[in-house]
Amino acid sequence: MEKITTDICIIGAGPVGLFAVFEAGLLKMRCHLIDVLPQVGGQLSEIYPHKPIYDIPGYPDVTAQQLVDNLMLQIAPFHPTFSLGERVENLQRNEDGSYNISTNDGTIVHCQVVVIAGGLGCFEPRKPEIDRLTDFEGKGVAYMVKNPEHFRNKKVVLAGGGDSALDWAVFLSNVAERVTLIHRGDTFRGAPDSAEKVFELAREGKIDLILKSNVVALTGDDRLQEITLLDRDQQVSHIEADHLIPLFGLSPKLGPIADWGLNIDRSAIAVNTVDYSTNIERIYAIGDINIYPGKLKLILCGFHESALMAQSAFKYVYPEQKLSFKYTTVYGVSAF
Ligand SMILES: Cc1cc2nc3c(=O)[nH]c(=O)nc-3n(C[C@H](O)[C@H](O)[C@H](O)COP(=O)(O)OP(=O)(O)OC[C@H]3O[C@@H](n4cnc5c(N)ncnc54)[C@H](O)[C@@H]3O)c2cc1C
Repeated sequence: MEKITTDICIIGAGPVGLFAVFEAGLLKMRCHLIDVLPQVGGQLSEIYPHKPIYDIPGYPDVTAQQLVDNLMLQIAPFHPTFSLGERVENLQRNEDGSYNISTNDGTIVHCQVVVIAGGLGCFEPRKPEIDRLTDFEGKGVAYMVKNPEHFRNKKVVLAGGGDSALDWAVFLSNVAERVTLIHRGDTFRGAPDSAEKVFELAREGKIDLILKSNVVALTGDDRLQEITLLDRDQQVSHIEADHLIPLFGLSPKLGPIADWGLNIDRSAIAVNTVDYSTNIERIYAIGDINIYPGKLKLILCGFHESALMAQSAFKYVYPEQKLSFKYTTVYGVSAF
């Protein structure tokens, strides 16, 4: 069993958890991060590493993985430590107000402050009801596009009507031999610009768009070979496919954190927007996992929340000191 002592224990090494290390580091607070995934980066590394992001200040565009790599460089001076591939399970409050956090692997982290940056929680893709879907997992069926190169010159079928399905249909149209997007409706839930791009590609014959239809069954020997569709008029059709990517979102699973006595509202942790503190002293929630009036699940909003959290958490780590606000342009980043 590993025992770690730190100032702040951050649950979740997504972009917001990573940037929290920087904001804490400027105030000389050390951080240990725990993530159930084997790599850092949260949704960015796990769901869309090669997709460009356009709304990070100062970057006209940056791929999700580049942003994660840059965040790791930015926090390196503060030497954060990590427990990856471990799921946070329990929280124990000590008499002096500090906490012990424990993981499913037996790691115990003793800390003054807990920051929950758990995003959507532990990732679990929603699986549609398709006959033999699970038989072909890893043999043609995937729920995320980790590396688009995997689909180069293949026949790829995407299913879904949200942003992920639209974005990947556009992106993979330049990579795959053929992209088919199947959606049960005839309008999309995703961003109107992305939907328009998909309709345009379909009009130009660069992708196949099949609306008002559902994937109902899969067939193949060792690997996926054919997909069966059923349309609204109950007509059955078949298409050849090397890959099926159902993109119906991730079901948020807060897991054991939901039993810690935190105020939970619609599967998210309610916070005070003064400093993103929760209803439990010394526990903060930042990034996609929190909720407050006007909340936007955007990376830059999580970055802002990290800054305010760190200013507030300082009093628990250094109760004897008075915090004075400083610009990094004036004082630089002093490593420790
Ligand atoms: C396809 C797609 C495109 C997007 N595009 C944009 C965009 O262009 N711009 C933008 O700003 N945002 C975008 N987003 C949203 C953005 O990815 C999220 O706002 C961001 O990832 C939130 O960061 P986070 O650190 O709060 O959470 P996450 O990235 O979700 O990271 C949370 C981490 O916590 C871990 N975790 C959770 N519970 C536990 C536990 N109990 N124990 C251990 N680890 C745990 C998870 O494994 C995960 O790694 C997009 C999202 C998707 C899906």
